[in-house]
Amino acid sequence: MLTKFLTNQPLTEELLTEEPRRPRDNQRARVYRAETPMPPSPLPGLDACAAFADRVVGTLWWHSRFPDHTIDAVPRFRPGNGARQAFFREEETGGFSITLPRRYRTKGVVLHELAHWALSDQAHLAHHGRAFTRLLLDATAEFLGPERALALSASYDEHKVKVGHLPQLTVDGRLVYGWDELVPSDR
Ligand SMILES: [Zn+2]
Repeated sequence: MLTKFLTNQPLTEELLTEEPRRPRDNQRARVYRAETPMPPSPLPGLDACAAFADRVVGTLWWHSRFPDHTIDAVPRFRPGNGARQAFFREEETGGFSITLPRRYRTKGVVLHELAHWALSDQAHLAHHGRAFTRLLLDATAEFLGPERALALSASYDEHKVKVGHLPQLTVDGRLVYGWDELVPSDR
């Protein structure tokens, strides 16, 4: 299916050497605006953020969705002194990191950045696309409670953020996000 939509594009070097290009991240600003008014659930420091991340990744909930994203590979937390925002990135030295300036040390932001890590190897998904918001809603319900998830869902609606379908159960008991985005239907 990916081959099909790539054939319409000129065969540049980038297309020859890289995975299919990631879709444009066209709802990123809306996702940020929708998440900003959420209650913060602050964590007291980077160690607490890392402990919360370990707790999330150590659950059966996480394992049934992202069995390859294991506790020994959880992104490293960086202080981000001077950074304007929280962000997730792949390190040149291997592995991943999550940068959290002081005001972003909250459970909500840690879940947001862990969701980026969880979906980072699926190149057909936009960074803040429908699979991302679906996963973040589900993780919010699981780790911050159903009321908080309802509030986030309402805020997504208000800001016209698209949310994907529930994950699909595979024969080996895994829950897969982004299965509804294999064709670029919403661009
Ligand atoms: Zn993000």
